[in-house]
Amino acid sequence: MRVSQLFNRTIKEDPADIEIVSHSLLIRSGMIRKSASGIFSYLPLGWRVINKINNIIREEMNRSGCQEVMLPILQSKELWEESGRWDIYGKELIRLHDRHGKEYCLSPTHEEVITNLVKNEINSYKDLPLNLYQIQNKYRDEVRPRFGLIRSREFLMKDGYSFNLDDISLEETYLEMYEAYKRIFTRCGLNYRVVEADSGAIGGSSSHEFMVLAENGEAGIVYCNKCEYAANMELAKHQKRIYKENQIEELKKVKTPDKKSIQEVSDFLKIDSSLMMKTMIYKALYNDYESLIAVVLRGNREVNPVKLKNATGALEIKLAANEEIEEKTNLPVGFIGPIGLNGMDIFVDEEIMDIKAGVTGGMAKDIHLTGVNPQRDFPSNIIVGDFHNVDATDSCPECGSGLDLRRGIEVGQVFKLGTRYSEKFDCKYRAENGTEQLVSMGCYGIGIGRTMAASIEQNHDKNGIIWPKGIAPYHVIIIPVNIKDENIRNTAEELYKNLLKENIEVIIDDTEDSAGIKFVNSDLIGYPIKIVVGKKTVENRTVDFKIRATGEEIIVPLKEAVAKIKRILL
Ligand code: ATP
Ligand code: MG
Repeated sequence: MRVSQLFNRTIKEDPADIEIVSHSLLIRSGMIRKSASGIFSYLPLGWRVINKINNIIREEMNRSGCQEVMLPILQSKELWEESGRWDIYGKELIRLHDRHGKEYCLSPTHEEVITNLVKNEINSYKDLPLNLYQIQNKYRDEVRPRFGLIRSREFLMKDGYSFNLDDISLEETYLEMYEAYKRIFTRCGLNYRVVEADSGAIGGSSSHEFMVLAENGEAGIVYCNKCEYAANMELAKHQKRIYKENQIEELKKVKTPDKKSIQEVSDFLKIDSSLMMKTMIYKALYNDYESLIAVVLRGNREVNPVKLKNATGALEIKLAANEEIEEKTNLPVGFIGPIGLNGMDIFVDEEIMDIKAGVTGGMAKDIHLTGVNPQRDFPSNIIVGDFHNVDATDSCPECGSGLDLRRGIEVGQVFKLGTRYSEKFDCKYRAENGTEQLVSMGCYGIGIGRTMAASIEQNHDKNGIIWPKGIAPYHVIIIPVNIKDENIRNTAEELYKNLLKENIEVIIDDTEDSAGIKFVNSDLIGYPIKIVVGKKTVENRTVDFKIRATGEEIIVPLKEAVAKIKRILL
């Protein structure tokens, strides 16, 4: 390819309203352009990277016995009603209707369509296992599209679905996909961790996420610094913590004038914050109604909204606003506690139940209760569970060592779905003994644009992107420093042709731009190898190689350039 012909325009300055580096570099290097909020066009260089990732995925999927298909994006409401997800999916589902008023959605994921397809095509146990995948656009009306390709509304996904005879066969396929995913992300040059994951709206019994470590990652991940334990913060556990407890006391009302926050009350009463029973009010949104709920946890802990949401069975939960709480309950915010709290479900964190004498709100302005013993004093219909976040002072639930808390970008996820969808769609096969059995399913996704962006988050410097070899748009750029100098131009062109002959992915900057501009652009775009052809090349028959990832510069005899590149790219 020739830069003079390439559909590409680089941009010097950081675009406005951009929060993270991958988004900025993707735009500045001319790989993508925004079309509407969370919707992008891929330009030739960006699309080459996407296709590199797609090819790695295809190779690894096909190697694992999967077959590629292409399913419709436009899907009928009936299918989604059959699975029960037309309502559950909520506002993220983009809904539309045709000229006859028939309703559809743009698919955010394809369990419905594929289960409905496969059930009509399979018959006996001999047809299974079956593992199908596709690479195509998904649509999710995200609350906050942001970070460029990381959280967009239209995005490319590889999604795969396995159909197995039983849970044992599903486990085999799941492990095979897990290993294939590890190979894919390694070949993409990513530093990642595999963590236990919540299975969210897709459902199912077990799930792992592939997390690219990055400070800007939206996901919290927790992993043991000694053993294999690693989990998404959303469901991470820790070894039971032993707190210092006071002796059992009588329940007492005390005055706490204007002391509302945990810090204020614990300072005022001279009680450790871990003995404060923090009560927070959330709003739980269900399909056709909403209600307030309370969660009680130790003052040193933070609520884990996913654990809490899973326990409520709600579609969504959010912290209730003070005005709303006061209006609906007539209770003074800052002084609410579980004792005497009526009309809402009370979720009590399991760590609370060990407290012998703690403090809660007294349900009246400027009043708290001390000596609270949850076993003795709490209402009997509370729901006890794990509703708190792990923190850096917790220890590994499996081996007791220290835990590391990091941020990650979720690039892939694998789920064991079991019979959740096959039951809804009556997807069955005839077993060897003649009985009808439900198919056991798994599903496996990779965000392709997100993988591209995550790679940039990990591989960049102040000058631009540093593509790993596996997914670079081209491997080599040749820069003739002055295209008007005939000798330089001819030497560069000859090298270009020689590299093409060897099937090396090479691009030549044959524009009339200055050498300085060519260097800036090539660093911004991030080609792994830059070859500079200048006066010295003509005079000494040598070329300068610059390796983008290490900054290393090597002078190579011109006649050895092709062999050298082949060695570097090996
Ligand atoms: P998230 O929790 O980040 O919203 P998810 O768990 O809902 O993602 P999955 O349903 O597991 O996503 O989708 C499979 C993959 O698709 C994800 O691992 C991620 O890489 C990618 N993905 C999901 N949502 C988006 C999005 N809005 N933009 C880009 N990629 C996405
Ligand atoms: Mg996911």
